[in-house]
Amino acid sequence: MSTTPHRVSPRPLDPGRARCHREGCDGTFPTDSDSWRKASAYCSWLCRTVDGSLYSLERESRKNRFDGLDDRYTELWTQLVGISDLVTEYRRSHDAMRRHRTHLRRTEEGHSQ
Ligand SMILES: [Zn+2]
Repeated sequence: MSTTPHRVSPRPLDPGRARCHREGCDGTFPTDSDSWRKASAYCSWLCRTVDGSLYSLERESRKNRFDGLDDRYTELWTQLVGISDLVTEYRRSHDAMRRHRTHLRRTEEGHSQ
């Protein structure tokens, strides 16, 4: 079950980077370093936390920890998927701002030379 937005056109991957494992995320992480991101396969701690929470909830469900609490489980799952979608939106806005800032800086550098 997922309501994450359809990935329209994922950016091509740069060499030495892999796609974040959280569904719907366009982020990448370095595969050629010893950083925690390489070990955890997520682009950010936000993605790791949200995806880890979804995984934990799904695992608890498989162990029938929510027997008789189906509505509560569905509510929790829906909330977490909503958080995941918000993280996707946030990361897209953050990336757009960073690209815009880089563009502005290059434009300024172009004018000063
Ligand atoms: Zn991510």
